[in-house]
Amino acid sequence: MSDGRVTHPLLVASRNADIGFAAGMELLRAGAPALDAAVAVVQRVEDNPKDHTVGYGGLPNLHGDVELDAMVMDGSTLKAGAVAALKGFRHPVVIARKVLETLPHVLLAGEGAAEFAREMGFEEESLLTDEARTIWKRRLEAEADGLPPGVARYYRHMARLARSLAKDPEAAAQEHGTDVTGTVIVIAQDHAGHLAVATSTSGWAWKYPGRVGDTPIPGAGGYADNRYGAAGCTGRGEMAMRAVTARSVVLYMKMGLPLWSAAREAVLDLYALEDEFASGVTLYAVDAHGNHVGMSNQEGRTYIFQTAHMTAPAERPCIFVGPDGRWHIPSS
Ligand code: ASP
Repeated sequence: MSDGRVTHPLLVASRNADIGFAAGMELLRAGAPALDAAVAVVQRVEDNPKDHTVGYGGLPNLHGDVELDAMVMDGSTLKAGAVAALKGFRHPVVIARKVLETLPHVLLAGEGAAEFAREMGFEEESLLTDEARTIWKRRLEAEADGLPPGVARYYRHMARLARSLAKDPEAAAQEHGTDVTGTVIVIAQDHAGHLAVATSTSGWAWKYPGRVGDTPIPGAGGYADNRYGAAGCTGRGEMAMRAVTARSVVLYMKMGLPLWSAAREAVLDLYALEDEFASGVTLYAVDAHGNHVGMSNQEGRTYIFQTAHMTAPAERPCIFVGPDGRWHIPSS
């Protein structure tokens, strides 16, 4: 929420982005564009091995491969760049930006994304840390009763395993007692009031190989348009994709709704989805004036923000919207 002062430069983000806020704010204070700041913050999160939901150290798919999704969108031009199901590169957000800057495309996936990363000179490395491998194996083995021995045994049961195991990375990390984080979403607003969004994730843990969530999909996992605002989502990407949640928030604002009402409409759209795997989706949104909000179909969520007046990020509760459309505003 705005207190009436000029709020930008501004960073609004999922909680795990705090590790990169100092770098992002420094850039914004120096007059850098919003996109530079959003990417700088996300890059720091991708480097953090303790974060099992983003970049290096992310939890792998059923095969044990870390597959990453990321996107950037510039609210000044409405240009977007993204990579999906990318293996072997720890900064997918930077590669997504290169897609935006270099190619006549928006989204590269799988081997093509890796080839592009190699061509652009990014360094290839293994992203599976020992800790992430242990978590992956432990969970898979706990599910393996009745299957023949050897890792290959899983391969003929992939669909069943994906149904029973694939999990929001945040929930998966929590289950295994590691740091609870999640997909990283960063919305930046620079000195000129321009908006950008950057996102990055290792996606659902134990997902079917090749599964792509909302995070690299412009309109689903993130969207930015200087004229109205920007938004990004975490949680069950399949829901945010089907409801095109980030774009919905911005479109509802375009149609005249104030930020909070626009965000609530987008959460209500999620309740309309029939989905046997339905779970939490949280959205983070900023309007063109720098007002911000976090809203969710799940209770107890928070987000962080920092303006140029502040020395450190502050945490705010997200507003929970129930299926009846009522919002529950926690006291901060
Ligand atoms: N939205 C991400 C995905 O579906 C995961 C998350 O944010 O928890 O891949």
